[in-house]
Order: sequence, then C-alpha cells, then structure tokens
Amino acid sequence: MAKQEDLFKNVVSHAKEYGFIFPSSEIYDGLSAVYDYAQNGVELKKNIRDYWWKSMVQMHENIVGLDAAILMHPTTWKASGHVDAFNDPLIDNKDSKKRYRADVLIEDYAEKLNIKAQKEIEKARVRFGDAFNEQEFISTNPRVVEYLSKKNEILARMAKSLDAGDLDDVKLLIEELEIACPDSGSKNWTEVRQFNLMFGTKLGASADSAMDLYLRPETAQGIFVNFLNVQKTGRMKIPFGIAQTGKAFRNEIVARQFIFRMREFEQMEMQFFVKPGEEMKWYEYWKTTRLNWHKSLGLGAENYRFHDHEKLAHYANAAADIEFNFPFGFKELEGIHSRTDFDLKAHEQFSGKKLQYFDTEENKNYVPYVVETSVGLDRMFLAVFSKALQEETLEDGSTRTVLRLPSVLAPTKAAILPLVKKDGLPEIAKEIMEDLKWDFNVAYDEKDAVGRRYRRQDALGTPFCITVDHQTIEDKTVTIRHRDSMQQERVAIADLKNIIENEVSVRNWLMKM
Ligand code: ATP
Repeated sequence: MAKQEDLFKNVVSHAKEYGFIFPSSEIYDGLSAVYDYAQNGVELKKNIRDYWWKSMVQMHENIVGLDAAILMHPTTWKASGHVDAFNDPLIDNKDSKKRYRADVLIEDYAEKLNIKAQKEIEKARVRFGDAFNEQEFISTNPRVVEYLSKKNEILARMAKSLDAGDLDDVKLLIEELEIACPDSGSKNWTEVRQFNLMFGTKLGASADSAMDLYLRPETAQGIFVNFLNVQKTGRMKIPFGIAQTGKAFRNEIVARQFIFRMREFEQMEMQFFVKPGEEMKWYEYWKTTRLNWHKSLGLGAENYRFHDHEKLAHYANAAADIEFNFPFGFKELEGIHSRTDFDLKAHEQFSGKKLQYFDTEENKNYVPYVVETSVGLDRMFLAVFSKALQEETLEDGSTRTVLRLPSVLAPTKAAILPLVKKDGLPEIAKEIMEDLKWDFNVAYDEKDAVGRRYRRQDALGTPFCITVDHQTIEDKTVTIRHRDSMQQERVAIADLKNIIENEVSVRNWLMKM
C-alpha cells in the first residue's frame, strides 16, 4: 500500500514539476478539487480529446458532433431528474470530522473482499499450474465462495436501501460491517444524508428578477434537447449518435484524489439513438468497442475490467463501468449506460414538444432508446499519465524517470537538439524544427549536455530526440533516439517526417482496435 501511495505522490509532483497540472489559483493556496492544465498538460489533454473524437465522430459515418452551452434552461434539470435525484449519500465521522460518501465506504469494503478472493485464486493458479480450472475453483473453494458471496450480499443490500431511500439501513450496514474512518480509525458516525451535487448560479442583473440556473452536471442533456434539431438538419437515420466534449460541474462531497474527482471537469460523451428493443444489442456493442479503444493505447489489457452496476441510476435499464487500475486501485474510468427513452420522454413531457423520430421503414413515429458512453477526460489523463510514469534502473546502475506515454498522445512528438551550441549546428537544428512544425508539435533545446537534455525529454514523454552533430553538415543525416528503448540510429533528415508520422499517427494507433 505504501508503495501505491508513493506512486500517487510521484504522479502529482511530476505533473506539477514538468508543467502538466497545477492547483487552480495556487497563489491563493488553491481551490479544493479544481486544477489548471499547464503547457504540457493542455497538449496531452487535447491529444486525448482528439483521439476520442476521431475514433467516435470521424470514423463513424452515423455519429456527428455537438457543442452545447454549459448554461441551460433550468427546466432541463427538472426533466432529467437531477433536481430531485442527483444526490450522493454523505456521512460524517464525528471524531475526525471527515466527510465521506457512504456508498463509497461500503464499496471499498466490498472491494477488499474481492481482493482477498482474487489472492486465493492467484495462489491456487500457481499451485495447480496448467491443471487449474478457475471457474470450478471459484464455485467450490469455501473461502472464495464466502468472500464473493459476502461481497455480493453487501452490494445488493446497499443498492436496495439506496433505491428505496432507506438511509437508516445504509448507516446500519456501515455499523454492522464495522467500517472505520480511513483517516482516524473511529467508528463514530453521523446519520447518512442526501446531498445534491449541482452548482447553482443566477442569470440576470437584479436580485428579484434573476433566474436560478445550474452549471450542467453532465454534458448529456445538451445532446437530448438538441436531438431533433440534429436529426432533422443532419438527415440522420436511426441508429445514429451525437458526440460532445465539454465541461461539467459537480459539487463533490469528497474530492481528495487529484484529478480523479474534480468539481470542474471535462466529459467526452456520446448518445447513441436506437430503435426501442434494440438497445441491448447496442449496449453490448458499445461496451466492447469502448474497451477496445482503451486497449488500443497499449497501457496493458490487465489494467481494465468491467463492473456491472447493481444499483441502476434512475434513467437506466443496464449500466456498466470500465474500471481502470489507478495508483489507488481499480476505479471507474468510463460509464456505458442503456438510458432507455427516459430522457427524451421526460423532455417531451416538460417542454410539451414532440421529440420523436419518424421511421420510414416502419412508417411510424417513436421516441428512440439511448445508449450512452461517457468518459471523463481528466480521468483518462490520470489513467494514461499514472501508468506511463516509470522509474527505470539502467544497465550501468543509474536511474531515469521516463513518461512512456502512448506516442500518439505525447505533448511533444520530437525534440531537436544541436550537439553543441556552435559550428552552425543550432542553425541546422532550427531549420529542421521549422520544417517539422508544420506537421507535429516539436521542441528545440540547446541548454545543458545532450545526456541531460535526453533525460528532460524522457520525463516529458517525448517519443523522439533528434540530434544534429558535425556529421550532419557533411551528409545531411542526424541521430534519432527512441524514448522507450533509448536506441539511436542514424537517418537522413529527409526521412524524419515519415519516421515520426509512422509512430504517432492516429491511424496506426486506432488500427490496433
Ligand atoms: P463516480 O461514481 O466516480 O462519481 P459517476 O458514475 O457519477 O462517477 P458518470 O455520471 O457516469 O460518473 O460520469 C461519466 C464519467 O465522467 C465518469 O466515468 C468519470 O470518468 C467522469 N467523472 C464523473 N465525475 C467526475 C469528477 N467529479 N471528476 C472527474 N471526472 C468525473
């Protein structure tokens, strides 16, 4: 555990030291759970967003984009259910005065049981070798059966109590499981209360005529209210999708995990409109497609898993998370939800306007069903960044810090380095930079010994360092050094563009899906 905490601390400090992420308004001691993306962070974030956008919009003829406003008519949030039901159950520890989400305390407890079961399974796998039958072991080993059935029982009871609004039972469950405050070890808890996560604001100048608004807590509703506009003007035929990236705001109760849980964050969402009755087929399709998208980045298939929801949100008839192995364990990275016709029907009812699709094949109108994929851009950033950050011991015993970012996402694709600051080498290096910058984000660096410059670029995640030396003057070749292998090769300046393109092109990465 200590090691995991250290890793997480490294992630936070590396993100700051190398100009990826700063606390918001830091000169005033920051604002809790709000962060700013710095010169390198903004590039990495943009590249993740582009990678998502290309795979979802550009590569799907039947998916189009949208950029709806953050401020929406307040009735939107009554219709969507957010005014009444966008709550988290909170609980305070009376001794430590720390506040927690009651459901997260219980889920963490259940996850510990799951980890115990997984450990037993791994031990048995080693013991039995090739003869190991995992399914049989899971269903017959008494310890594993006990851990897993207890886990399921706990989650099912929590889901039932939350659904029924029985917060007393949620507290009782915490007491029965003897869950202690992770900070102080105390079991002295307050009652569980519901807390609405939406940020309120006002529209209008004078206090009495001002209209109460909310900052949107999800981008999805901007898509629903525009559904018919887009369908008609884009002549879209079902099934089709509308994709959007943008800011969302939630007044989170507990926000202690850097950019994992923020109060202002960015979502990348796609709502896929389908024929009623076909939603399960599309739900499965998008689960698979989205998992493959994550895997295409090469961070290791073992770092992802599905978590099917026991407790469904008020709008869903099926829901699963893609969880990622963050430095603090497996947690939600993306949600895939079958939202039924809940949202469109609710907007029809509250607005009095029809939001129906005319199906020419069936010759009838209906309200489509919706399958949603929703991934947090900042969480994606954290997933990629934390897995990429590695300390390596080299053959000569020295160490290096390297950010093994998928090169398609790296903020800077190549750094051009003159070996020395004289003999005309900087001029050639700058010429190369001027040429490459039409196609890639590149940097020029002439300060310090070349070895130190390599290390600096390793820590920034730059896939290539291109070094200009005296031989360059004679034969127009340079050395190109690969970040991960540290291998260097001599290549013609004229070939640089192709070499870089081959490694960083979205096409080559998405083809791995
Ligand atoms: P959680 O259970 O972690 O609170 P959620 O289930 O409420 O998340 P959704 O409403 O499904 O999240 O939102 C979709 C995605 O938006 C999430 O998978 C996550 O990646 C991202 N997200 C949600 N809340 C936050 C937040 N406070 N900070 C950063 N990203 C977030």
